[in-house]
Amino acid sequence: MSAKIDKNTQHANDNLYENLLVGNKKFVADTLKIDADYFTNLAKNQSPPVLWIGCADSRVPANQITNTPPGEIFVHRNIANMVIHSDMNMLSVLDYAVNVLKVKHVIVTGHYGCGGVIAAMTNKEFGLIDNWLRHIKDVYRLHNEELEQIEDMDKRCDRLVELNVVENVYNLCKTSIVQNAWNIGQPLGVHGWVYSLKTGIITDMKVSTYDNENMDNVFRFK
Ligand SMILES: [Zn+2]
Repeated sequence: MSAKIDKNTQHANDNLYENLLVGNKKFVADTLKIDADYFTNLAKNQSPPVLWIGCADSRVPANQITNTPPGEIFVHRNIANMVIHSDMNMLSVLDYAVNVLKVKHVIVTGHYGCGGVIAAMTNKEFGLIDNWLRHIKDVYRLHNEELEQIEDMDKRCDRLVELNVVENVYNLCKTSIVQNAWNIGQPLGVHGWVYSLKTGIITDMKVSTYDNENMDNVFRFK
């Protein structure tokens, strides 16, 4: 038996949905007022110089926070901006971005206050998502000593957000896709950023990598 939704709630939900389509009409009208050829030009092709791997969080829109227009950033998002080597979705996006679009930079962007990271720090069971969060728990285990020394739990979480970005940058470097690009001399930078929801400011984690020289030997493809 399905639970009934009351009429007022249904009405509010319908409005919310319809407003998206109303918003689209306004967006088209406003955009065409400024540039009549905007959509004609944008539809021609895309050659974005950047691949963004970010969190699915609704408050971290790639273009808006970097002040870039559509066409500039190829975007992949998932919970807690993870780079997991068995994730076909991420690998397909990465392969297409590097080998077809020939992006110049791949940026892993995390954000402070990330719900996925906060959840991974607890001992609570959340269901299916625990299998995804497990990878963040692995990052915690790798950096256990440093993290356990931070007593303030918010600060500890912020640090885990940063370390999670750094580890996922490293995960990107471990992929054959990125290493093959480097091996054939294709210019490709891999970077890690953390965005602050409270200030809007992006911090560069300074882990930019352009080759596999500093990589643990076991991960290298030659
Ligand atoms: Zn998040």
